[in-house]
Amino acid sequence: MALHVKQERREFIQYSTLGILGLVLGGGFFGAPYLKAEEKRLRPPGAVEEDLFLSLCIKCGQCLQVCPYHSIELADFGKGYGMGTPYIEARQRGCYLCGALPCVLACPTGALDHHTEKPEDVKMGIAVLASPKTCLAVTREAVPKESIERIYSHPHTRELEEEVLEKLSKFEGKPCTICADMCPLPNPLSAIEMVTTEMGITKPLIKSGCVGCGVCEELCPVATPAIIVMPRESYDSYYTKRENS
Ligand code: SF4
Ligand code: SF4
Ligand code: SF4
Repeated sequence: MALHVKQERREFIQYSTLGILGLVLGGGFFGAPYLKAEEKRLRPPGAVEEDLFLSLCIKCGQCLQVCPYHSIELADFGKGYGMGTPYIEARQRGCYLCGALPCVLACPTGALDHHTEKPEDVKMGIAVLASPKTCLAVTREAVPKESIERIYSHPHTRELEEEVLEKLSKFEGKPCTICADMCPLPNPLSAIEMVTTEMGITKPLIKSGCVGCGVCEELCPVATPAIIVMPRESYDSYYTKRENS
């Protein structure tokens, strides 16, 4: 190949690569606010308001390091914005609201606010019974073995994680009350309770003490969880406003 052809080829590859890189970075830069507006992400306990969180978090991963439940993940490029920032994918692993909130204590910048001192102070989101029709309590079906086995595929290398599996296994073949009975708050009844309506339908009722930890979403045995967590919402912002509108 002639020298100038080789050089042109090299320049083409260089400029193409720069062009693609520019598009990708440009897309990330200009597209990120739109992605952020569309998606509310479940953040670890104590996370301050999202814009402030994104500016304070230095992506050190300290919160993730101290979490004994593998609850926290760091956003990769595919998450669209806030690359390297910690978040919780509730269906994979909720937050088990450790008493002393070690993730908050480990945060060196205040992105996880140190005023969040105990599980009841946490404000991650709010649980919602998104699909009452598929809830096993409503349909009066027993908890199937396979749905417990699904949780076994989540990380469980530590004693606390093994304890969750052990508790969960006791629901197999029984009427489902998993979301209410596995809620990790010290007083779970402040957050969720199984109630029976006048029509004789039993279902979970979410209450104002719910902090949105995501454990009910993780453990719900229905293939598409009947109960989910709405990140960055509160009981007032989600339920009270709907009642009043
Ligand atoms: S409270 Fe515990 S389980 Fe929840 S994110 Fe923090 S360290 Fe992990
Ligand atoms: S864990 Fe899921 S299926 Fe079971 S009662 Fe709660 S919402 Fe219904
Ligand atoms: S109801 Fe669900 S999201 Fe709310 S605190 Fe209990 S387990 Fe967490």
